[in-house]
Order: sequence, then C-alpha cells, then structure tokens
Amino acid sequence: MRQQVQVGEVVFGGPSTVLIAGPCSVESLDQMRVVAQQLKDAGVHILRAGAFKPRTNPHSFQGLGQEGLEILAQVSRETGLPVVTEVLSENDIEAVEAKADMLQVGARNMHNTALLKALSKTSLPILLKRGFAATIEEFLMAAEYLVHGGNNQVVLCERGVRSFEPQVRFGIDFGSLALLRELTAFPLVVDPSHATGQARLVRPVARAAAALGVEGIMVEVHPDPSKSVSDAEQAIDIEEFHGLVQDVRAIEGILQPDGR
Ligand code: PEP
Ligand code: MN
Repeated sequence: MRQQVQVGEVVFGGPSTVLIAGPCSVESLDQMRVVAQQLKDAGVHILRAGAFKPRTNPHSFQGLGQEGLEILAQVSRETGLPVVTEVLSENDIEAVEAKADMLQVGARNMHNTALLKALSKTSLPILLKRGFAATIEEFLMAAEYLVHGGNNQVVLCERGVRSFEPQVRFGIDFGSLALLRELTAFPLVVDPSHATGQARLVRPVARAAAALGVEGIMVEVHPDPSKSVSDAEQAIDIEEFHGLVQDVRAIEGILQPDGR
C-alpha cells in the first residue's frame, strides 16, 4: 500500500499519476507566467522551476535566488498551482519554505546529511532525488534521515544514475524502481528530463515510467526550449507535453487497479 503525500490539494499515491512540470530555472516573471498557464491548461498538477540552481560550472547561471522565489509564489497565486523548488543549502530553507509548497532535495545533495536533518524539521513535503551514484540503500537512508527527524512526507524521485554510456545523460534505473516499490511505501516519481538529457527521449521514457505505475512524473517544459538558460537540450515544449499527458493517461487506463 502506497503512503499518500499531499501537496496542497494534490495527492501522491491517489488515483492518478501526479504530473510535475516547468522549466529548469525561473528566468523571469513573463517566462513563468506563460509556461504556468500553458501547463495548467494541459492538466499539470504541480509547477516546478529552480530559483537556486546546482550548476556544474560556477560560471553558469546560478538561479535568480530570492527573486525567483517571489516569481514562483506570484505565479502560484495567479494559477492556483502548487510549487516545488530546490533547497540548495541549509541557509535557504526558511526563504524557500515561505514561498513553496514542496521542497526539492537535488541529486547532488542527497548525501548532504546536515541539509536532510534540517529539512526533517520542516512541515512541508519533500521531493528527494536520488544521487546519481547512490545505491538503493543510500537513497532509502537519506529518506530515513527525514523521517527520523520528524518529516515522513517524503516522495522519492529516480532521475537516472551515472553509467558508462555518454549518449544519454544518465541511465534511468527502472529495475531499482520496481524493487523500491517492494521495499518502501513512499510514493515514487520519475524524472525523464534529467535522466535522458534529450528532449526527444523524454516522452518515451515517461511512457515507460507510467507503465511501471509510478505515482508521479516530473519533466522540464519551457515556453521556448531553445532559449532555456539551463538544460535547453532536454526541455520539451508545450505541444510535446500535451502528447506526454495523453500517453500517461492512456497507459494509466490500462493498468490494473493494483498496478501502482
Ligand atoms: C532539478 O530537478 O532541477 C535538478 C537540478 O535535478 P537533479 O538534482 O536531479 O540533477
Ligand atoms: Mn534542469
């Protein structure tokens, strides 16, 4: 039996797959307004976008920070969509908590036990992403840090692990997901965008995730993918997202009631 995790009115572990979508980064109020309205019309449940970005290169765009949080909160008010965004450091928890409905722990921070301990004291649900070299045990222990500290509102996100193959960004670990469904009651989410790193692979991998009966799918959608300031190659446009939603709903329709 899946544990249910509620974000606003949205329930992970309820009857339908939760769709989380939005750009990699908050870039401007205009960008977020346009994409949030497009996504709302397409049936998205939760809006995503980073205000604090964990970039590989320190010279790359690091996110709008507090201004990004304000933009997220405003667009959330205007559309009624709840928001998930990353908490990069302990110092940002209070600021992000004040503006978001769900807090994201990024893959690079899954092993950051000080951050996990601090987040365990918040009352907001947590989207915990798997580190890209984390074992299943380490992933589950990271979640245990949150539970142990007092926050059991945890959703686990598989976003691909590092493999020998350079042509896809990360290797999505479907076998581990199937096993995680046996090992834990936490709702499971798949992120095909960061896993594949390529826009045209996002929809087929989302289909595979839906077939596994995961509780949620998170993808990067940009109003104009070629202009995305981060992760442009993997961003899909709204048209592709509409197709993805259709696919996910169709697959859900053929799963047995115990498929998830
Ligand atoms: C993200 O989802 O914004 C992100 C940075 O992903 P990850 O931590 O999985 O790389
Ligand atoms: Mn990204």
